[in-house]
Amino acid sequence: MCKITVYTNAEIFTQDPLNPKVNSLAVACNEIIDAGESLENKYLDAKIIDLNGATIIPGFIDSHLHLKWLALQKQWINLSNVRSFDELLSKLKEAKTTWVIGRGFSEKLFREEKIPTRHDLDEVVPEKPVLIVRICGHVGIANTQLLKKVGLWDNPEIVEGVEVDSNNKPTGVIKEKALEYVLEKIPKPPLKQYVKLMNEVLNELLSKGLTTVASMNADPLEFYILQCTNTPLKVRVFFDVKYLELILKLMIKGHFGNEKLRVTGIKVIGDGSFGGRTAALRHNYVGSESRGELLITSGVLENIVNKARKLGMLVAVHAIGDRTIEEILNVKESLLSNIRIEHCSLTPPDIIEKLSKRKVFGVSVQPRFRISDKWLPNVIGENSKYAYMFYTLSKKGMLISFSSDAPVEPFDPLINLEAAISDEGIGEKVPINDALKMYTKNGSLILNEKDKGVIKKGYKADFVILNKNIFKEKPSEAKVIATVIEGKVVYGKVS
Ligand SMILES: [Zn+2]
Repeated sequence: MCKITVYTNAEIFTQDPLNPKVNSLAVACNEIIDAGESLENKYLDAKIIDLNGATIIPGFIDSHLHLKWLALQKQWINLSNVRSFDELLSKLKEAKTTWVIGRGFSEKLFREEKIPTRHDLDEVVPEKPVLIVRICGHVGIANTQLLKKVGLWDNPEIVEGVEVDSNNKPTGVIKEKALEYVLEKIPKPPLKQYVKLMNEVLNELLSKGLTTVASMNADPLEFYILQCTNTPLKVRVFFDVKYLELILKLMIKGHFGNEKLRVTGIKVIGDGSFGGRTAALRHNYVGSESRGELLITSGVLENIVNKARKLGMLVAVHAIGDRTIEEILNVKESLLSNIRIEHCSLTPPDIIEKLSKRKVFGVSVQPRFRISDKWLPNVIGENSKYAYMFYTLSKKGMLISFSSDAPVEPFDPLINLEAAISDEGIGEKVPINDALKMYTKNGSLILNEKDKGVIKKGYKADFVILNKNIFKEKPSEAKVIATVIEGKVVYGKVS
């Protein structure tokens, strides 16, 4: 028998509708065995932890982020705080590395609102390869050296997404598949260093109260690196669809792995981003003839889902524009229930109607986009009023889970929760209890697991202790006192 620990004198928000708020919980081994009032009087031999009025919520579950890029970009130049064109260029000029890689810039935050060109990059760093990636992760700019090094200077046609001028020479702008191609060519750190970077990332996630995360577009190397890490954070993996044939050969099945690291699904890209004007819309972008780029058809998707389903895997499809979501909804009804929609950003009324009738498995959304994409009306026009309808989708009976899409947005769930409930920002705000549910219980369900995200007898003892009650105070002002996974304090301290 395991020893019982009782956490008491706390405000505990359980996400169990039959028992929503209690002041104590009891843990034995790795499970919650009880949630109720003053359990210290019931379990007399238990170890008692008096939390002095602190708040407990289920462990946060981030259903969509990118661990590989969080780890690798630790070695890159952080451009997310850059506020002008000149500042960006001088940061690149100062770089000491042999490959100059920067990530996270947004020209929308620049005073000048202009994007650097290949020529601008060539001028400040002529000798070394340079790549800067937009905050959305879907568009990048490369200098001439980099284009030469990766073979795109002479053969821009070898991959889709390399913008060329009238002489068929790359302009430096690379999008989607081409960007992916280039990122793969950037030398990876040695294995030991990669593992160290990944461990750092996983520990940072724990410190923010995350207990389970899903890493999207994973590759075999990332999966190997994750196996070498030693932190208790639970990781679920969605392999990039380009490894589907390999996975079929290896007969890797959904739920392959263990409680700590497990394979859950396949990730497919259906379109791009609003910011990069590559999300597939049903109407034109403001001031342009373009409707963005649809990168998948329902037929191709059916084929992928068929294969994945045989392995017991979910298929997560990146779909931002309404045209992409509509295309997904053309998939056969019997296969739709195996599809997760990632982002599901633009949902005019007819799409919402269809979504509520033709049920997908679930939808993973990013509340912080409400704040970051305030410029959306300037890019997609009037239809921006149909963006980020999380609450309506949820009320229509869809399984909605929150995520950060980090490194696109910060992975701190308290920051993202605040964005979800904020009066500011575009799209719909969500009441705090629903928002918390989308970040905990629904996160577990959308990963096809049923034993997390609720503080209730029989569930895994994964929870977070906060110094403030986020139902009364701004989530961003709360701090994580401790993160507990399967009954063990894995971050912080409880006395
Ligand atoms: Zn993503």
